[in-house]
Amino acid sequence: MTDVVNKKTRSRMMSGIRSSNTKPEIITRKALHKLGYRYRTGTKIQKIRPDIVLCCRKVAIFVHGCYWHQHAGCKLAYSDREYSPKWKKKFQDNRQRDQRVLKQLNEAGWRVAVVWECVTRDAEVFVKVIDKLHNWIQLHESQYFESDYKKT
Ligand SMILES: [Zn+2]
Repeated sequence: MTDVVNKKTRSRMMSGIRSSNTKPEIITRKALHKLGYRYRTGTKIQKIRPDIVLCCRKVAIFVHGCYWHQHAGCKLAYSDREYSPKWKKKFQDNRQRDQRVLKQLNEAGWRVAVVWECVTRDAEVFVKVIDKLHNWIQLHESQYFESDYKKT
């Protein structure tokens, strides 16, 4: 049987690297832009490529897909399907990489924010998250921000 996607695409899918310009990313960028932030995309910081970078503020923002990044307690992260050990390992690797990246950026003096996909799907929730993110960027009280998520 032939594979429906080519080798390169498959390897990208398996590695969990999403293509850029996903819908949650676009929504988040638009909201930041509206607040007056000027951002860059595709910027590399020590070989790490955050989804959105606010250069002069030294803020790196990741818009995480709940499934790929296995958002804990989130319904988008789960499937009824029984995962093979290979996939379980993949998810585990993704989580560990996220932790590593966070630590590395923080140590390099960057503040890191994670916006989960699920919060971008609900306009009411999203407005609150962006408000909190905005405060977090302005206040410089902590190195890390993570969006609230819907538990239902
Ligand atoms: Zn989620």
